[in-house]
Amino acid sequence: MIVIKTAKEIEGMRRACTAAAEVLRAVAAMVQPGITTGELDAAAAELIREQGGKSPFLGYKGFPCHTCISVNEEVVHGVAGRRRIQYGDVVSIDVGIIVDGFVGDNATTVPVGVVDPRTQELLEVGQAALRAGIAAARAGNRVGAISHAIQTVVESHGFSVVREFVGHGVGRQMHEDPQIPNFGRPNEGAKLRPGMTLAIEPMINRGGSAVQMLADGWTVVTADGEPSVHFEHTILVTNGEAEILTCPKKSLFESKVR
Ligand code: MG
Repeated sequence: MIVIKTAKEIEGMRRACTAAAEVLRAVAAMVQPGITTGELDAAAAELIREQGGKSPFLGYKGFPCHTCISVNEEVVHGVAGRRRIQYGDVVSIDVGIIVDGFVGDNATTVPVGVVDPRTQELLEVGQAALRAGIAAARAGNRVGAISHAIQTVVESHGFSVVREFVGHGVGRQMHEDPQIPNFGRPNEGAKLRPGMTLAIEPMINRGGSAVQMLADGWTVVTADGEPSVHFEHTILVTNGEAEILTCPKKSLFESKVR
């Protein structure tokens, strides 16, 4: 069953999502050569506390960290630890937060310094795929419109979509209906209605789509060892364009000069 949020619930989602975005932005800014994924996760834990929230990931089916940090060939659900970030890596950070009973969920992948050109293209296509998915998330469209839009962008650049993990509804629960695959046909799935809050999250690979699970039982890696990227926003379906709930506040220092 897909939950249609009330105006009050949407306010709750807005607060949780703003907090999620603030934490993600701050952790992403800390990524640099020499820092460990464990240090990034510890910093995120502190930031989540400062936001008055809790991590929905910590303890979820036994997951041991506050965030998911996935480096290079790691796709999603990376377990933070002693891995040290190196120049040229791509680092995916997935931040969820529960604030006053509502979950905000977002992720981004950041390059460490200059990465090779095809990986840079992968990063840009990942963001474009998320934008296309969000643009398709309009009332009256079906879930498949989001899936199809993402797949089309990704495959037109010769990259591949991970099949095993999907976006999802989000609200009082981290995972609500519907599931939102990053591939599919526009006429498939449930019809979108105003008041739905959805986590749209393309996971895309530079090489093939196949993935494997590491022995830790969590970390998902590409089967061919090629890098992968992950971008996620929580959005609100409206009667017009979707509202991105996990958009950080505009920086006080943002210049109007172009
Ligand atoms: Mg998610």
